[in-house]
Amino acid sequence: MGKTIAINAGSSTLKFKLFEMPEERVISSGTVDRIGISGSNFTIKTTDGKKVEIDQPIKNHEEAVNLLLKELLKLDIIKDYSEITGVGHRVVAGGEIFQDSALIDDKVLKQIEDLKEYAPLHNPANATGIRAFKKVLPDITSVAVFDTSFHETLPEKNYLYSIPYEYYEKYGARKYGAHGTSHQYVAGRAAKMMGKPLEELKIITLHLGAGSSITAIKDGKSFDTSMGFTPLAGITMATRSGDIDASLVVYLMQKLNITNPEDILTILNKKSGLLGLSGMSPDLRDIIDAAEKGEHRAQMAIDIFVNNIVKYIGSYATEMGGLDGIVFTAGIGENSVPMREKITSELGIFNVKLDQALNEKRGERFISAEDSAVQVMVIPTDEELAIARDVEKFKKMGD
Ligand code: AMP
Repeated sequence: MGKTIAINAGSSTLKFKLFEMPEERVISSGTVDRIGISGSNFTIKTTDGKKVEIDQPIKNHEEAVNLLLKELLKLDIIKDYSEITGVGHRVVAGGEIFQDSALIDDKVLKQIEDLKEYAPLHNPANATGIRAFKKVLPDITSVAVFDTSFHETLPEKNYLYSIPYEYYEKYGARKYGAHGTSHQYVAGRAAKMMGKPLEELKIITLHLGAGSSITAIKDGKSFDTSMGFTPLAGITMATRSGDIDASLVVYLMQKLNITNPEDILTILNKKSGLLGLSGMSPDLRDIIDAAEKGEHRAQMAIDIFVNNIVKYIGSYATEMGGLDGIVFTAGIGENSVPMREKITSELGIFNVKLDQALNEKRGERFISAEDSAVQVMVIPTDEELAIARDVEKFKKMGD
C-alpha cells in the first residue's frame, strides 16, 4: 500500500509523520518551525531515530514541503517520491459540510478555505499546506481529515446556542467543536484498556495542550464538547480565553477604542488564557515554576485552569448520567504530573483516586488507584496515525 504522510500545518509550522502502511510503522517524523519568520528551522527524525536539524530561511509552506521531501530522499528515508502514495491533512473546521474525511479536489479545497471564519487561526494554514503538497505531489491520494467530524453526533441540545434559530439556519451559527481526531483516538484506546466496548462506556477525554478541549463521549459518540463555533471557546488555554460573556467583547471594544473586530479576536485568541492571566508565559511549565516561587498571578492562572476543567467534568458527568473513565492527553495531559494531580484531587465527589506512583510513570497507562470509582488514564494522542488510517481507507476505495 506504500507510504502515507500525515500533515498538520499551522500558520508558521508544518509537522509531519511518515508511515509505512498498512503496518502503521513510523519511518520518519519532524517539524518545520517559524515558516516565513526569521530563525526558520527544520527538524527531522530518521528511521533509526537520529535527529537532523537544519537552520535555513523557509519563506512559505511550499518551500517547507519541498525541503521536507528533499530531505527524505537525502537521508535515504525514501528512495523515490513515488513511494509516497498518500497524504492526509489535518483540517480544523469542516462545518456541517464535512461529516467525514474527504478526498481533496479543487472544490473541497475551496470549501476548506471558505470555512476560514470557523477556524481563523487554523483553516487558512491547513489550506496552505494542502496547496503546497498538491503542487509538489499532484497525483497521490490526498485526504482532508477534519477536527470537527467526530463531533457531528452532538445532539441538537448541545450544539445550538440560545440565539435566534434562523442564525443557525442561515449562517451555520452553532457549536462544531475541535480536536475530534484526538478525542476519538484516545477514547478508542481507553475502551480497549478498560476491556469494554466504547458504546457501553461514559468517558470524558481531556485534550490539554496549547489548545485545550474536553469531550463527553456517550454511546461511543461525541455527546458534548467544550470548543464552540471556533476553537476559541471552552476552557482557559495557553493564549485563548475560552468561554467569556459575549457582552464583554463589545464592552472591551469600546474601552480599547477597537473598531476592527479582528483586533478583539486577536486579543482573545493570542493574548489571553494562561498568558493573559499570568502576564508571563503561555507555557504551563514556566507558570508552575513561577507559582512555586510564590508568584501570585501564576498561581491564579493555574487555579483558574484547573477549576475550568473540573467544572466541565462535573457538568459532563451530570449530563451523561455517569462517568466510567477520564483520559488525559496532549502536551499538558501527557506530560504534567502536577497538573494531573491537581485536577484529580478536585474530583473527590466522583471518588476519583490517583495512584501517585503510576502518575509519575510515562506512556499509555492507568493512573487511578485500584479503589477509584472512575478509571483515570493517560493516553498519548496520535492524531497523525488516525489521519494515516483514514488515508488508507481512501486508497483502498481507489484500488
Ligand atoms: P500540544 O499543543 O499538545 O503540543 O501541547 C503543547 C503544550 O503542552 C505547551 O503549551 C506546553 O506548555 C505544554 N506542556 C508540555 N509539557 C508540559 C509539562 N511537562 N508540563 C506542563 N505543560 C507542558
